[in-house]
Amino acid sequence: MNIFYSDTFVLPLPPGHRFPMAKYALLRERVAAAKLVDPNRLSIPAAADDATLALAHSRDYVERVATGALTTQEIRRIGFPWSPQMVERSRRSAGATIAACTAALEAGVGVNLAGGTHHAFHDAGAGYCVFNDSAVAARALQAMGRIKRAVIIDADVHQGDGSAAILQADDTIFTFSIHGARNFPFRKQQSDLDIELLDETPDDPYLDALESGLREALEQSRPDLALYLAGADPYYDDRLGRLAVTKGGLAERDRLVFSYCRRAGLPIAISMAGGYARTISDTVDIHFQTVALAADL
Ligand SMILES: [Zn+2]
Repeated sequence: MNIFYSDTFVLPLPPGHRFPMAKYALLRERVAAAKLVDPNRLSIPAAADDATLALAHSRDYVERVATGALTTQEIRRIGFPWSPQMVERSRRSAGATIAACTAALEAGVGVNLAGGTHHAFHDAGAGYCVFNDSAVAARALQAMGRIKRAVIIDADVHQGDGSAAILQADDTIFTFSIHGARNFPFRKQQSDLDIELLDETPDDPYLDALESGLREALEQSRPDLALYLAGADPYYDDRLGRLAVTKGGLAERDRLVFSYCRRAGLPIAISMAGGYARTISDTVDIHFQTVALAADL
């Protein structure tokens, strides 16, 4: 298994900023310490270039991100200030999902220790998301001739609205999102399959809903590759989650996704997506258990 990271491109954030940036370095350190993979399989990926990003974004948006020409309003919607590091980190994170997809096609599974930035639209960023790494990566693998069809399994607690919008008219990439009905984004987009959950949904109904969604998504999409967004934010003690899923429930979620993909003979590229637990080590635990379970595949 190959694992890719981009946390070393540190974002300059104002003091007191709510984005939990520390989780990425903590996760990488924990993955390295646990020796889940050989050290040479834990690496920084190539940056996604403008042409690759333009597979899912408008040329104009990519150029304005790259050159710092976003408006104040656009930057506010993204949620962190523009900086050259922000551009580089976003390019590397998209590159990491592409690399995870390529690794998955070769070895069955690949991991991006960041990514899952599913609120980024064709011509706009939002909610801590600059580029939509899943849409970019699925299209990049198609452009390389490595796959024809893909499924995006988005288990972050927030709807993958950017992915749904970018890929709405694309019959070759199926979008499945399981998320809180009453949570951000408050104006939802239409995925190929959406499952909406009530506030405080606990493990069992969560897992039942996920399983029926997986069955339907895999049957309808007939994919060559799965991109799995393993958000840590359905966790009961997440500040932005609103659900009531436990760590054990989230491990069960990962096993369910992996076993359905395995049974369908599908390579899996995993990204981390959100996670804003009151105690940061809980978020790191949840992401770590996803990576550890993937290493056992
Ligand atoms: Zn989220």
